[in-house]
Amino acid sequence: MKLYNLKDNNEEVNFLSAIKYGLGKKQGLFFPKYLPKFNTKALENLIKMNFIDRSTHILSHFISDEISLKDLKKQIKIAFSFTKPIIVPVTKNISCLELFHGPTLAFKDFGARFMAQMLSYWKNKNSIMTILTATSGDTGAAVAHAFYRMNNIRVVILYPKGRVSKLQEILFCTLGKNIHTIAIDGSFDDCQYLVKQSFNDKKLKKKIGLNSANSINISRLLAQICYYFEAFSLIPSKYHNDIVISIPCGNFGNLTAGLIAKSLGLPIKSFIAATNSNDTVPRFLKNGKWKPKSTISTISNAMDISQPNNWPRVEELFKRKKWDLNDLKSESVSDTETIQTIRELYKIGYTSEPHAAIAYKVLKKHIQKTDFGLFLGTAHPSKFQNTVEKILSIKLKLPNSLQSRVDLKNFSHNMKPDFLKLKKFLLKNI
Ligand SMILES: *Cc1c(COP(=O)(O)O)cnc(C)c1O
Repeated sequence: MKLYNLKDNNEEVNFLSAIKYGLGKKQGLFFPKYLPKFNTKALENLIKMNFIDRSTHILSHFISDEISLKDLKKQIKIAFSFTKPIIVPVTKNISCLELFHGPTLAFKDFGARFMAQMLSYWKNKNSIMTILTATSGDTGAAVAHAFYRMNNIRVVILYPKGRVSKLQEILFCTLGKNIHTIAIDGSFDDCQYLVKQSFNDKKLKKKIGLNSANSINISRLLAQICYYFEAFSLIPSKYHNDIVISIPCGNFGNLTAGLIAKSLGLPIKSFIAATNSNDTVPRFLKNGKWKPKSTISTISNAMDISQPNNWPRVEELFKRKKWDLNDLKSESVSDTETIQTIRELYKIGYTSEPHAAIAYKVLKKHIQKTDFGLFLGTAHPSKFQNTVEKILSIKLKLPNSLQSRVDLKNFSHNMKPDFLKLKKFLLKNI
């Protein structure tokens, strides 16, 4: 698979390098040079397959020149060895695609686990590798669990202090061993900037075998394509041309994966990009001006991102496919509206959390009678226990994967958003 750098089109790499480097020169994102396309017959065949076989088949179209089908299937089987996505009806024409039944109860398990499997598959057994990642909540947990106890792979996770939920925190800060976590005195964007600075330091990068695991990593996006196909296979065929998907967006990785799925031939009618008050994209689509403001803390904290990293990929895809950016609906939802929506959903029998509720809210506003509306359930409600319990005045029962960690020791370090301090940490704990 050939990929090119969006900031420097002359830089071309294969999939293995793209996974390993994360970013290209000038911090450019990698993007596939060739996008396969399934015709109607191929799509029909794909839909009949089970999740593992289908995912192997789809991804093999991108990377079969770098890994055998047999090995790819083996890695995918380990990566996706948890409860598959399910579709839960919420209203007459709206359902939730629940992607949160993995080990860390968020959709990020798909991307993180696939990436971990691919990296460990290609890794030189004797060299050290450092996975440095910034998280606004769920990435940290997914990445930590995906790499936990892997030999010669060290994981360092930066997160904004006090801005991730307590339960999110215990999922990744209580593991220890090869998982190091640092609470940064700043926003998620500060954390992301520290990661970028580290990648810019060539000597450091080489010395500690630096790798990224943010949603900028192309392997994560590829893995996420697979559940859009799974969702399609779960929807009765009479609706196959009327599917509208609403996505709660932060870094816009999930949306990018959905759009790639569409470009491969999945006939999704339209996508909706829902954001919280960090509304850089909805404003941009309205007035054509890219003007990120400083990040606002909201109750949907995994989406508290004002400079969404994946946006250049979204634009590239629209350009390549000659799609019209005006067809992409995007709207922001305030905390007040989110709270109202969680209550509204609960009244009709569905317990949700802030991120999914935002997607539902915008979907409900735009859906037409004949549409099959799907909003993505990106995290399990109990990951936001305090928020949800307060809004609904109920007690949530924690799933076992969370309950079992509640009393464990938190191993996190504290740090100011200072690159030199981080560098020292990275060099010391090698
Ligand atoms: C990461 C995350 C999002 C945002 O996904 P992006 O791919 O970054 O747009 C939404 N909801 C939850 C619960 C998340 O963890």
